[in-house]
Amino acid sequence: LNQARKTITVMAEALGEMANGANGINGHMKPASLRIVVVGAGIGGLTAAIALRQQGHEVVILEQSSFATEAGAAIHLAPNANGILRRLGIFAEETGANPMQRFTEYTAAGTETRSISTEASNEMWQHPWLLAHRVHLHETLRKVATSPDGKGLPAQLHASSKVIDVDPINATITTEDGVRYNGDLVLGADGVHSVTRLKVPGGSVKPFGSGKSAFRFLIKRKVAQDDPRTSKFVQRTGELAIWYGADRRIVMYSTSNNELLNFVNIHPESESEASGDWNTQANLEKMLEVYKDFDPAVLALLGKADPESLKVWKLLDMPILPTWINERLALLGDAAHPFLPHQGQGGGCAIEDAASLAVCFPADTPVSEVPARLKLYEKIRYERANRIQEYSRIAGHDLRDNVKLDSTFATI
Ligand SMILES: Cc1cc2nc3c(=O)[nH]c(=O)nc-3n(C[C@H](O)[C@H](O)[C@H](O)COP(=O)(O)OP(=O)(O)OC[C@H]3O[C@@H](n4cnc5c(N)ncnc54)[C@H](O)[C@@H]3O)c2cc1C
Repeated sequence: LNQARKTITVMAEALGEMANGANGINGHMKPASLRIVVVGAGIGGLTAAIALRQQGHEVVILEQSSFATEAGAAIHLAPNANGILRRLGIFAEETGANPMQRFTEYTAAGTETRSISTEASNEMWQHPWLLAHRVHLHETLRKVATSPDGKGLPAQLHASSKVIDVDPINATITTEDGVRYNGDLVLGADGVHSVTRLKVPGGSVKPFGSGKSAFRFLIKRKVAQDDPRTSKFVQRTGELAIWYGADRRIVMYSTSNNELLNFVNIHPESESEASGDWNTQANLEKMLEVYKDFDPAVLALLGKADPESLKVWKLLDMPILPTWINERLALLGDAAHPFLPHQGQGGGCAIEDAASLAVCFPADTPVSEVPARLKLYEKIRYERANRIQEYSRIAGHDLRDNVKLDSTFATI
């Protein structure tokens, strides 16, 4: 923990300097120093683009999608991630993120086993713990990365540009359409099914099913408040509730100014037809069947899911990579360390990776220093990210595994 605190302090100081215009950055006046090609415009890639443009670099982002299907779900912005976003000028409460205020746990039968306010513990952190809507967060990151306003040059974002190959020595990528982009540095922020990962030593490992999948959906909180069977569960703002069965659980928390409730229902992989894609359509009847032994009042909550927007997603794990870098290529976020979601830190760690990279690349970094500076980035991040990944695995253990969870709250 001390090591983690030290790392965060060093990053915070460096980010503070960035925000204050140290390192010679002076808005549009300063010529860009490195040309950086980012593969993937997800949470990690966009945060990296923002932090690196603020450092004075020229950033090009290549994204395979047309942004039509961004996952409609909530995301925790714990203080570690939220603090970085704030230093980059992003305040998620402006787009409806609400504070996390309370944990409540129930048995599957509906008996409350504990309910703990987080108001006092939140005081020890420098930045608020927020519950954000993923789509709003993504839109904000995209806007800040590419806006003509703000520090540095706007990042150029090319949608519908699927990267199929990377040359780490020459920092060149090739898209499916045969277009080549050459840079001084390539960042592989292309998520759990990364293609850039194949280009780091030991990167041919494949993500595998962890044994669990998750149904996910959002409903209006008002709908649950208006139903006498379910209103008792949704009285308080900023509350995260978990109903624990032996090998399955239901997780619910509010977002979007507490107007929406986000559900992530984790269950044995064999009981639903999930894929590793976050947007696989799910079946409402099937979800109710999976949770049939739970409290009928909770089933009434689940029954409010809109069948059209109900998704199911296989929770993937992956062996730890021996390295995240190769010459002038570095991985970040899920490409480097795909997280199980049980502590809500996958996005947070991608944000931390992005900020750390920018700290390692101040303006005017000579191209010749790129490989050595990537080694520094890896040194800063590797142990911390892998440790959080391990905590997430522990928090995901089934109740029947009898793993003591008191100090490792599951949060997703
Ligand atoms: C429902 C849900 C809830 C979650 N809740 C939380 C939470 O509470 N807290 C938290 O911290 N994390 C949470 N996560 C996890 C978090 O969203 C991920 O860990 C995070 O998005 C990882 O960011 P990333 O940028 O590495 O990858 P992604 O966000 O997956 O972005 C990768 C991007 O790369 C693009 N791409 C992929 N391949 C290519 C290619 N070949 N060429 C070009 N582009 C490519 C993809 O289209 C995508 O846009 C949640 C995830 C889901 C699905």
